[in-house]
Order: sequence, then C-alpha cells, then structure tokens
Amino acid sequence: MWREYPRRLGATIIQLKPAWLIIFGGLLLVGIGILLLPPANNAVPVPIAAQENREMTPARFYQQLDDHRVQCTLCFHNCVIPAGRHGICRVRKNYRGRLYTLVWGRPVGLQIDPIEAEPMYHMIPGHRNLGVFTVSCNFRCKQCHNWHITQRGPDEIRALRFTPEEVVAEAIRRNARSISHTINEPTVFFEFMYDIATIARAQGLLNLFHTNGGISPEPLRALLRHMDGVVVDLKAFCDETYGEVFGGRLEPVLTTLKIIREEGVWLEIVNLVIPTINDCMDEIRAMSEWIVEHLGPDVPLHFTRFHPNFRLTHLPPTPVKTLEMAHRIAREVGINFVTIGNVPGHRYNSTFCPCTGERLIHRTHFAVIYNKIVDGRSPFSGRPVPGIWE
Ligand code: SF4
Repeated sequence: MWREYPRRLGATIIQLKPAWLIIFGGLLLVGIGILLLPPANNAVPVPIAAQENREMTPARFYQQLDDHRVQCTLCFHNCVIPAGRHGICRVRKNYRGRLYTLVWGRPVGLQIDPIEAEPMYHMIPGHRNLGVFTVSCNFRCKQCHNWHITQRGPDEIRALRFTPEEVVAEAIRRNARSISHTINEPTVFFEFMYDIATIARAQGLLNLFHTNGGISPEPLRALLRHMDGVVVDLKAFCDETYGEVFGGRLEPVLTTLKIIREEGVWLEIVNLVIPTINDCMDEIRAMSEWIVEHLGPDVPLHFTRFHPNFRLTHLPPTPVKTLEMAHRIAREVGINFVTIGNVPGHRYNSTFCPCTGERLIHRTHFAVIYNKIVDGRSPFSGRPVPGIWE
C-alpha cells in the first residue's frame, strides 16, 4: 500500500489544471517563507510577563554558571540545568543561559472551598477560600491524590490564562476572604504565587499556601512577608521514607517549619498516615516530640486518613483506630490542638479546649457547625487559642 500512495498523489497533481498549479505553488512558497522568517521579537527572544505572549517569564532565585548552565536555588533539589533543559519540576527552563518559569499566569484551576479543606482550622473558620494551582511538583509522592496534575508537565495539560490581578479579582468576585496556593506544590509556581499574594494583601485578602516544605530558606523568607498562614505536609519522620515514597528529603522540611515559626506566620501541620509506610507509633511519637520542642505545643497537627491511590493502590485505607492512636500519642506528648481528618463525622475532626476538653469548634468534615471561640480565647477556660480569628 505504501508504494501506491505517492503514485496516486503524483497522478492527482498531473491532472490539475495550470491555474490550480500556480495557486498551489504560490501557497507552498508562502508557507516555506513563513517557516524561514526570524521571530518578530528577535531582539527580545523570550516574551516576558508584561507582554502579550507570556509562555515564559523570568524566574527568581537562580545563579548563572559557565557554558550557559544555571543553578535553580528555589528548592532543595538545587538543579543545575544546561541550556535548553528543564529542572526536575519541568516548569523551570534554561533558555540561553537564563532561567524562566513556564507557569506564571498559567493556572490549571481556580476553585472555591471552605478553608477547612486545606486543612487550615485556626483561620476564620468556615470562610470561603479561592485555591490556585498549576501543573507539576518537585516531589514524586506515590500516594498523590492529584497525580494527574502534579506529575505532568506544562505541555500535557491545557492551562488557563490569568494574571495575578485577574486571580485576585476572581477571588473578590466569588466572595472569598483568602487565596491559597495549593493542590500542586506552590514552590514550582513561586513567582506567580508571590505576585498574587502581594496584590491580594493590598486588596485586604488573606494569603496562605499548602506546601511539602521543600522550598529553600531564602525564597521562603521572601514569600512569608506576604503570607498569613502556611499548611505544611510533614509526610513522615524518617529521611529514608521521604526518599523512597515521596521523592523528597526530611531535613529541608524541618528547616522550613522552623523558619515559618521564626517569621511568626501562622502554621498548621498535616501528617497523612499511610499503613505500613509511616504508621509506626514510635515514629509518630518522635515527630510529635520534635514539634513540641522546636515549634511549640500550640501548632495544630492534623492526622489525615489515607485512601488507596496512584502507586499505592495495593494498600488499605488507614484504620480509624490507627488515627486515634496517633491522636492519643500527640496529645500525651503535649500538642494542644490535634485533629483527625478524612473521617467525616469523627469527634476529633473538631477542636477542643486543651484545658477543659470542651468542644470549641464543631466540624463535620469541612462544615463548621459552630465556633465558640471569643476574642481568640476559649470561653471555658479563658485560655488563648492561637490563630487568625477576625
Ligand atoms: S524548583 Fe524545579 S528547577 Fe528549581 S531546584 Fe526545584 S525542582 Fe529544580
């Protein structure tokens, strides 16, 4: 069959009338001409954010090396990237010796949720939050619930086009009181997040981000100046598990947690308890002790339930008893605000006064049934309940 095709095509061309041959030849020449023309913006080969085409935007936090290589210093990977190549996250590209982000202004979703979905439990309970997310991640978590977004590159998912101003306007239009950078790892869209946060704050919105904690100290400190809260996934308390299951490292995450506390930004921690991976109670005790010692007893700790997903579909959901055991240990160690998530209706989905044991905030999954905190204090004991309540 393959031999017949060129013969038929040749026969068809020969049968065309001369006028059609002239038109056909003209179109062919125009097409070749367009392909050979230099780009219109040859003087500035890479479009920047302010220009109409914003496929690539200059990145922050990198160093130029020899041979047109660059080193990205945004996260713990510190990727050395040759010209024309991407970093591990696939959304930061070296173009002619300069680093660019491919996801500025290119979210793949904006969605309204209650702030409890983050989970962020000590920040104006029940308010509407606008979540912003792009493609990609700098981790490779085997249990990732959002793997269809996080484990993809910018060429694999159709993105939206939103400037930071448009994102903030969308949040206001939808009556959101905060914007969170979430779902995928926001470190990989640092510049977009940073620009949104500066505008959002000027408009009176709260800013937060939900991170795996792998961001480097310098960009983290710069970002925290514009943030009101951070949710950090502390995925395990073992460096080997971090490497094998999550494609990360423990030490940078612990550093991130300490810096957030130092900078005085509101912090909450999530530990997804996965059967056989990180459900050893000795590890949970060691993690809880580290939190009390380095971050203080008032940082909320959320134990959340794992459901089989992505590369860990062979594991069962976390038994509720395991979560309750983890909760008991964290409370014994001295953490004051410990909750259980992804178990709708569970008593410990709520927040309790650490002094009297009375229920302060009654939640069912993401819904707030009531909130008894008054002026940032427990009405039962008068004890301050840290967080952002107004
Ligand atoms: S942000 Fe991306 S390019 Fe930069 S160091 Fe991390 S993985 Fe590498």
